[in-house]
Amino acid sequence: MSLRARLTFLFTSLIGGVLLIFGALVYSLVSFLLLNQIDTLITNSANRIIDQMRITGSNELNPRSLIFLEFNENIYFQIWGNNHELEFTRPLDLKTSLDETGLQMGAVIFQTTRTDNLHLRVLSVPIESTRGPAGIVQVGFDLAFIDTTQRMMLYVLVFLTIVTMFISSLIIWIVSGRVLSPLVSATNIATQIAETQDLSRRIPIENIKNDEVGQLIFTFNDTLERLEKLFYTQRRFIADVSHELRTPLTVIKGEIGLMRQMKNFDSESLTSIDGEVDRLTRMVSNLLFLAQADTGEMPFDHVIVSLDEILLEVFHQMKTLAGDRISVSITNIDQISVWGDRDKLKQVLLNLISNAIHYTPPGGAVMLSLSEVDHQACLSVSDTGLGIPKEDLPHIFDRFYRGEKSRKRSQDSGFGLGLSIAYSIIEKLGGTIEVTSTEGNGSTFTVWLPLSKSNI
Ligand code: ADP
Repeated sequence: MSLRARLTFLFTSLIGGVLLIFGALVYSLVSFLLLNQIDTLITNSANRIIDQMRITGSNELNPRSLIFLEFNENIYFQIWGNNHELEFTRPLDLKTSLDETGLQMGAVIFQTTRTDNLHLRVLSVPIESTRGPAGIVQVGFDLAFIDTTQRMMLYVLVFLTIVTMFISSLIIWIVSGRVLSPLVSATNIATQIAETQDLSRRIPIENIKNDEVGQLIFTFNDTLERLEKLFYTQRRFIADVSHELRTPLTVIKGEIGLMRQMKNFDSESLTSIDGEVDRLTRMVSNLLFLAQADTGEMPFDHVIVSLDEILLEVFHQMKTLAGDRISVSITNIDQISVWGDRDKLKQVLLNLISNAIHYTPPGGAVMLSLSEVDHQACLSVSDTGLGIPKEDLPHIFDRFYRGEKSRKRSQDSGFGLGLSIAYSIIEKLGGTIEVTSTEGNGSTFTVWLPLSKSNI
């Protein structure tokens, strides 16, 4: 059974149950009150009869005076002598006792009796005189009117219960349909995605309220968005890796083919093959690094590292690399320690500074600075180089992303993995990495890291 049908059934049964209990209570209470009133009425009538009754000296009943008594038309009564002979009856054709049990018992008793055509409430009262028991008076009230009232009440209550249950089930069916409709759409969309593998589909959110179901839909759409991005990134990543692998392999195959044709191990081809194999090895180690960082398998030291020492070390290495072509300088260096992995932090600095040198034309400058800002280590690498176009800025930390100018392949050109590696290392160490750049004026990469306790 569907959730909608179950909800409707449950609530309708609940409402029906409550109405039935309520109806039963009303029915019983009204019946009780009516019977109570009838009992009072027949008690009063019995008292009037006993008051009017004459008893002879021989303790015999003389009911003649009762002829003039006037009662409600629903009241029947009989006077019985001590030997159960009928002394008086109204109406006159009523020859059998109104209540045989009451007559036999000879005590005050209320009974409800039913004959072929009469349904009566009967009170039997023994008549006592100073000389002992003189007979029994039985007063009955015709319950036909009460029966009709009760029957009508029962019909009305049952009718109201059925109508209310029908209307409420209709309302619950419509409301639950509306509430659950986003879930139905979600199921349909999920089925469509499974069938077509099209992750771009979303559940329409125009009329969705911000309630629990709405939250579920928003989260579902959000998850789809992430999945789509992940799927797209994975696909692009595989395409990029294949592309990057194919180029050096084609070069190697070409060089080998050439040597085979020439039947000669020419040293130029061997150097080219060597270079391509180095390039492949670098790329595979970079990929391995990123894969391990992603899966959390990358071993990370967590020791206090003196950032200023690493900066000086890398500075000297890079200064040699830049030679006279580009001026590399340190504008500020504070003594700062952070928690982290020495080799990985060095790798970050190497990637950032080598990029700065690489993307700065001869005559330009690269400035390094390390300082404490807002209780954080702030390390910046600025250059006066080419800068990064605005449209490239949001993507430069993506894997295999390379700016227009670095796309031309050369032996020393990168794979677009250096900044992704730097980003993932800094992220693992609880820091952030930012970039500001103006095309033609240079770029500044800033790394923020939490200070180790020794600094605080
Ligand atoms: P690559 O191996 O191409 O340098 P990176 O991941 O290190 O890969 O850098 C990604 C891209 O970001 C580069 O292709 C380049 O376009 C841009 N870039 C990085 N650093 C700089 C910089 N200092 N100046 C200008 N562009 C830069």
